[in-house]
Amino acid sequence: MYPHLFRSLDLGFVTLPNRILMGSMHTGLEARPDGMARLAAFYAERARGGAALIVTGGFSPNDVGNLGRHRAQFSTLEDAENHKIIPRTVHEAGGRIVLQLLHSGRYGFHERIVAPSALKSPINPHTPREMSAAEIEQTIADFAAATRLAREAGYDGVELMGSEGYLITQFLALRTNRRRDEWGGALENRMRFATEIVRRSREAAGRDFIIVYRISALDLVEGGLASDEIVLLSRTIEAAGATILNTGIGWHEARIPTIAQAVPRGGFAWATRRVKQAVGIPVVASNRINAPELAEEILARGDADMVSLARAMLADAEFASKAREGDRAGINICIACNQACLDHYFIGQPASCVVNPRAGRETKLVFKKTPKRKSVAVIGGGPAGLSCAAVAAERGHEVTLYEKSRQLGGQFNLAKVIPGKQEFAESIAYYTERLRRASVRVVLERSPSPQELGSFNEVVVATGIDPRRPQIPGIDHRKVVSYVDVLTGRVTPGPEVAIIGMGGIGFDTALYLLERENRAPLDAGAFRAHWGIGADGTLSEIRPGKPAHRITMLKRSHTPFGHTLGRTTGWVHRAELARNGVRMLKGVEYRKIDDQGIHLNVDGKELLVAADTIILCAGQVPRKWGRTAENGVRPHFHVIGGAKEATELDAKRAMLEGAEVGAML
Ligand code: NAP
Ligand code: SF4
Repeated sequence: MYPHLFRSLDLGFVTLPNRILMGSMHTGLEARPDGMARLAAFYAERARGGAALIVTGGFSPNDVGNLGRHRAQFSTLEDAENHKIIPRTVHEAGGRIVLQLLHSGRYGFHERIVAPSALKSPINPHTPREMSAAEIEQTIADFAAATRLAREAGYDGVELMGSEGYLITQFLALRTNRRRDEWGGALENRMRFATEIVRRSREAAGRDFIIVYRISALDLVEGGLASDEIVLLSRTIEAAGATILNTGIGWHEARIPTIAQAVPRGGFAWATRRVKQAVGIPVVASNRINAPELAEEILARGDADMVSLARAMLADAEFASKAREGDRAGINICIACNQACLDHYFIGQPASCVVNPRAGRETKLVFKKTPKRKSVAVIGGGPAGLSCAAVAAERGHEVTLYEKSRQLGGQFNLAKVIPGKQEFAESIAYYTERLRRASVRVVLERSPSPQELGSFNEVVVATGIDPRRPQIPGIDHRKVVSYVDVLTGRVTPGPEVAIIGMGGIGFDTALYLLERENRAPLDAGAFRAHWGIGADGTLSEIRPGKPAHRITMLKRSHTPFGHTLGRTTGWVHRAELARNGVRMLKGVEYRKIDDQGIHLNVDGKELLVAADTIILCAGQVPRKWGRTAENGVRPHFHVIGGAKEATELDAKRAMLEGAEVGAML
């Protein structure tokens, strides 16, 4: 079905069965006491699922290179001993795994950080100390020693992290390297650190050991490497002994999205192609590759020799085996939301996945066949209900799902119309197919009667939320509408718009109004033009477009604008709205709504915001549901998702609760 994806790859001393590499992700388990066993289970599940080669999350080769305050380090015999369970379990599952060695340099979130020059990163409050020449030599030796230890631990190789703005990249770029010694100045000097690490790691590990070097195919920052320098670096790294060149896109401090939903699928494969054309060793494409047909296309076009799937493997551990069997409809596609993976890492929680709550919980959330088949009614076909019905039915229960609208998907049906959020449609399609395969009886356009429910053993209430209607004088004015009216196309707002509420949905609604006609977000060329990325990777100034609406967003609290948005994606939303001149007001008091617009008090002064349309994005309340059935009928009731608690509702909690209840019925 996907001939290029499932062609073997001969590395000289080992042959990989296909072209799928599971890319490195910070799972947040690396530094936990039970981390090794949980990581072993996590990776083994992906190895069983058919990934040809897995890359672990990053481990530092020494103390100062740690990324966070907690030790995620690989530098001692004891570390090697502790890690042994990971390669052993992955090998038993039929896979191969390499250990990523990552020195964070100035990106480390602690006081001991070092870098080629003492220049603070814009995304870190700590300023690094400049490394001495002796420290540089020692760091190279630490990488080589860690590589040797990785071999002793049983790993098939290492990946040397030379992209995303970490230490190796900091040596390469003039942006961060102002040294005047043999490690700075001319490109040849700046490349020495990277080259020496590869050369000495190869010496330390011997010939038959995989050394993946992760190269930055595009830096996307001022003062980064130019495209011809990247080509030269690729050749130098190849000559130094790397087996594979994996690619990374953009430094973490780049102000251009690289993996968020706003990035089109496979949107950076063109940059990988340039690296591939420069070298003879296999080159891996990465970033927003989430579907087998896309991976196949990238390989068939000759952009790369392998594809790296990281989040896609969180979303579906069996991505590779399902693709091999041609079961595209059975693949749970990553929707690039970052909500349960990368955003978790930044708040110190282990990574999981919104659409696959089992990810990272392999040892805790176990779906066992039920010894006693029960009849289960699930009321509501949104994220919580879909997740629960799928798990319960797959475990052997007889499940009926009631959805009062005409389609499954709940709030995902609204999300999928937001620019860049089209991927939500994939989740609806996937869960619908899962229900079909598990023989769930789906009843659309109907709510069950209390009598009907009396015939079930278990009832799961997943009826979701209703938009909140705040008590503001004039709220019933004809110009006041809900975000649901706008996103479903029932209402077309006028040129002047005021939005009440600045949570995720307020931002999404503003984006929908501004961009739905102005941008083709799934097209790589349009994306590049939108973010000012030249064909050679150089950056140009972003020109603001002509906004389709003049928008004012309002909130009562004094908290920073967009502070509830995702840690790794919120800045993209804020940047988009800023470029469209959206006005944001906080600390407002709503006085009244009339023909003129909305009247406010702000900082003790009266202010009128003229508006043709006022859109309510003021949060949610649980949808009312006739609980009278609870009394006097037999079934056990379980309330999940927004129906249980609408505050801070998100798809992540809804799907997790659905899976948890589905697993315990
Ligand atoms: P939300 O994040 O809870 O935001 C609700 C907004 O309404 C707040 O800005 C709040 O601001 C305002 N508000 C609350 N009560 C109000 C009242 N009585 N009168 C006037 N204003 C009121 O809710 P949401 O935007 O509907 O999002 C729901 C959930 O969906 C979020 O928790 C999020 O997880 C998820 N989501 C996330 C994203 C994203 O991150 N991109 C996108 C869509 C949805 P003040 O109280 O300051 O006025
Ligand atoms: Fe993909 Fe979102 Fe899951 Fe992360 S949480 S793996 S971005 S679907």
